[in-house]
Amino acid sequence: MGIAQQYKQVAAQVRHECERVGRAPDSVTLLAVSKTVGLSGVEQAIEANADQFGENRPDQLVQKAQAFPNEKWHFIGNIQSRQIGKIVQNAYLIHSLYEKKHAAKINDAAANIGKVQSVLLEVNVSGEQSKSGVSPEELADLVRFCAGLPNLRIKGLMTMAPQGNLDVARHCFSGLRELFENTKAKMDTQRIQDFCELSMGMSEDWQVAIEEGSTIVRIGRAIFSDDFA
Ligand SMILES: *Cc1c(COP(=O)(O)O)cnc(C)c1O
Repeated sequence: MGIAQQYKQVAAQVRHECERVGRAPDSVTLLAVSKTVGLSGVEQAIEANADQFGENRPDQLVQKAQAFPNEKWHFIGNIQSRQIGKIVQNAYLIHSLYEKKHAAKINDAAANIGKVQSVLLEVNVSGEQSKSGVSPEELADLVRFCAGLPNLRIKGLMTMAPQGNLDVARHCFSGLRELFENTKAKMDTQRIQDFCELSMGMSEDWQVAIEEGSTIVRIGRAIFSDDFA
């Protein structure tokens, strides 16, 4: 079908799914995860009106963000201390923050360039060993720590569900939603307005994520792969 067509199809499906569950069609951001393609793949998606992209490698983030500065570039990958400067210079939103030491470094890097960096806190809701993220029990402490950093803006939470079973994925997404509500209830009024995003759902499970309240779906293969069924 080609990337442009696939992007258009997924975008239409996302809007349709929102309507089906009684949500506004623009209440969910479609994040095109372009980590498997190069600049020409990104360009094809832009031609189909994609304007928000996700990358999991800092070098790719830099390269693509600089090639396409009018789009919004999200960082969704593993954070390493020595890469934080690059990430902060290029990321509109960082989805994958879960360590205090990285929060402090992101805050410093943002302060250095006069930026307030928007972040999501990644939570390991499923408890799978292979998944990264703060545990649900430790989330409140991380939120408190980050709230003390003036150049960080906590925009919400992110999780990755185990693949292969939609009931398990749903349980994970509803768990993140519940943590989101609990966290919000304890925030001071000044921060509540910023705290509005739930980044959950990928190619295999985004419909379920929208049913459970996702505001950002991160979709790679369904847009960029030519053999995603
Ligand atoms: C690769 C990736 C995605 C997209 O996954 P697909 O299954 O290809 O849609 C979403 N989120 C993160 C964190 C990723 O690394």
